[in-house]
Amino acid sequence: MKQLNSRIQTFVRTDTARLMSTYLCIIMVMSICFSLVLYTTSVNQLERQRPPRIGMQYSGFDGATPTGFREFISDRIEEGKREITQNLIVLNLIMLGGGALVSYYLARRSLEPIEASMEAQTQFVSDASHELRTPLTALRASNEVALRRSKLTLKEAKETIEDNLHEIDRLQQLTDGLLRLLAYDDSPQFQPVALQEVVGTALAAVAQKAANKSIAVDDTTPAITVNGDQGALVQLLTILIDNAVKYSPDDSTISVAAEQDSKGGVTIRVADQGIGISEADAPYIFSRFYRADSSRSQTEGYGLGLPIAHKLVRAHHGTLSMESTPGAGSIFSVYLPKH
Ligand code: ADP
Repeated sequence: MKQLNSRIQTFVRTDTARLMSTYLCIIMVMSICFSLVLYTTSVNQLERQRPPRIGMQYSGFDGATPTGFREFISDRIEEGKREITQNLIVLNLIMLGGGALVSYYLARRSLEPIEASMEAQTQFVSDASHELRTPLTALRASNEVALRRSKLTLKEAKETIEDNLHEIDRLQQLTDGLLRLLAYDDSPQFQPVALQEVVGTALAAVAQKAANKSIAVDDTTPAITVNGDQGALVQLLTILIDNAVKYSPDDSTISVAAEQDSKGGVTIRVADQGIGISEADAPYIFSRFYRADSSRSQTEGYGLGLPIAHKLVRAHHGTLSMESTPGAGSIFSVYLPKH
C-alpha cells in the first residue's frame, strides 16, 4: 500500500501527469457543458408536457384538468428529470474514466518525442564534455609538471609549449566539429554545382596529408552537375576522403568515382585500401563520438566526421552507405537524388 502511495505521488509530479490533467480538464469541461445543454433541452421538453393549473387556459384545451391527472403528469416529469440527471452523472463518470485513459495516451504521445530529443541533447552534452576533458587534462598535467620543476631549461619550456599547442589544436578540432554538427541547418540553398569542382576542392584540402603517406589518388569523377549546397558537398567529400587517407597504409591508392543514374540521381564513391571496418563496428560508425578501437590507437579524431557527413547528406535528401572488408579497404557511397 505504502509503495503504491509513493508511486502515485511520484507519478503526480511527472510532466505526463500534468499534461494528462490538462487534457482531462478539457475533456471534462466539454462533457459537462454538453451535459448541461442536454439537461436544459430535455427538461424544457418535459416541462412542456405539464398540464395547466385548474382554471388556466391554454391553446387547444378549454377547461380544467383533473387534479389527479395533473399530479400524475407532474410526478412523471419529476421522475424523468431524475432519470436524466442520473444518466448524465453516469455518462460523466464514464467520460472521467475513459477520458483519463485517453488523456494518458495523448500525454505520452505528445511527450515521447520531446523526451527523446531532450535525452539525445543530454547525451550529446555529456559525450562532448567527456571528450573535452581529455585534452584539458593533458594540458593541465603537462603545465603542472613543468611548473613543479625547480629548473626549467629553455628546451624543456619549448617542449611543454609544443605539447600545449598540440592539445589546443585537438581542442580546436573538437569544438569546430561540434559546431559544424550543430550549426548546419537542414534547409540548405540548392544550386547547380559542378561535381568535378567539388571533388577537386576536397582533394586539394587533403593533398598534403595524402602526400605525407605517399598515397595515390585516382579521381575519375565525370563532368556531372548536381543540385546542392556547394560548401556542404565540399565538406562532405573532404570528410570521406580525409578518412580514406587517415585509415589507409602508406603507398596505397584512394579512388573517387561518380555516376548518374537514369533518374538523374548521382552516386559518388570514395574507396580506399585501408584497415577496413569490422562487422561489429559497422552499425555504430555514423554515431557521434564513435571510434573503432583499431582507429583509436592509430589516428587522432573524435568520431564526429561521419555524423557530420551523414547530416550533410540527409540535408540533401540523400543516403550515405558503406561497404568494407576488414584489412582490405572500405567504400563509402553517397547517393544524391535529383531535386
Ligand atoms: P574519426 O575519423 O574522427 O574517428 P569519423 O566519424 O569520421 O571519426 O569516423 C568514425 C569511425 O569510423 C572512425 O574512428 C573509424 O573507426 C571508422 N572509419 C571511418 N572511415 C573509415 C575508413 N575509410 N576506413 C576505416 N575506418 C573508417
